[in-house]
Amino acid sequence: MLTKTLTLTQFLIEERRRFPEASGAFNSLVLGVALACKALSRRVAHGALSGMYGAVGETNIQGEAQQKLDVLANDTFLHCLQSGGDARGMLSEEMEQPWINEQGQGDYLLAFDPLDGSSNIDVNLSVGSIFSLLRAPAEHKRAQTSDFLQPGAKQLAAGYAIYGPATMLVLTVGRGVHGFTLDPEIGEFLLTHPQMTIPAQTKEFAINASNSRFWEPPIRRYVEECLAGSKGPRGKDFNMRWIASLVAEAHRILTRGGVFMYPRDTKDPSKAGRLRLLYEANPIGMLVEQAGGRASTGAGPVLQVQPDAAHQRIGFVFGSREEVERIERYHSEPEVPETDTPLFNLRGLFRPNT
Ligand code: MN
Ligand code: MN
Repeated sequence: MLTKTLTLTQFLIEERRRFPEASGAFNSLVLGVALACKALSRRVAHGALSGMYGAVGETNIQGEAQQKLDVLANDTFLHCLQSGGDARGMLSEEMEQPWINEQGQGDYLLAFDPLDGSSNIDVNLSVGSIFSLLRAPAEHKRAQTSDFLQPGAKQLAAGYAIYGPATMLVLTVGRGVHGFTLDPEIGEFLLTHPQMTIPAQTKEFAINASNSRFWEPPIRRYVEECLAGSKGPRGKDFNMRWIASLVAEAHRILTRGGVFMYPRDTKDPSKAGRLRLLYEANPIGMLVEQAGGRASTGAGPVLQVQPDAAHQRIGFVFGSREEVERIERYHSEPEVPETDTPLFNLRGLFRPNT
């Protein structure tokens, strides 16, 4: 079986052959990320036995309680990638300021969420790591925070690892999305899911419905229509999923389709959404678009957003293309007036034709 299955290293070498200008440093960086993910996979698999459950008693830059594993995961990423000299800078969810290569070495910048879904750790549900690879600007050597503020469309590569029943690395280097499964016997990622694609249609959606009173009208309308099922304007029944782990939600959607929404809402007007643009929405967005799906802020393409801060948050809607386009359309249509007369309500008989 091994003779037929590409390892991640072999896959990267093959890809590089198609791009003679691509450097070995690029592959080295992706393999550094893969090494960090393998190390984390072992730690996560030991569960409570690792002594790494629970909070450290600190809050990170996001104001969220840091788990011991958040800190360990961040250290693992830094450890696996600092020594190679391929990353000129690294931006992490767990560090207020990016790590900077003081010698100004390396042509690339790496942004990562070292442990995504870490609130799932203590309940033994899937967690993951997310990463985004950018080119470092040529104008100056020493990296600065503003170097990371590039739109997602500029990413050279993006991916995530999911530590589930099996550990997988899902990667794009700009030519489709490919899934690798970690063979724990030999410690290699093997290509098991070439060319992952997201079907254009779906009957599955994922949203944190406890926030429904804060939703903006287009999201409210979309979800209400899904819930109305075969009796509503959509004419079909939907299922709902919610894992509260971005990596796990993205992996399900890349495997069998669906739509995920964490829209901007009115809960905390100081936050323009919940998820982070540079190391959550952009890398997942690149994977989704490379798999034929659509990644959006709700109103437009997320990969076109010009970032203005390293830890910026954003509304994020992604998945099956036709569903995401429908949600964007609802954002651009004039609001349907809500009246007290049921006949003129969203689901009423005299709803304006849209
Ligand atoms: Mn996260
Ligand atoms: Mn995290």
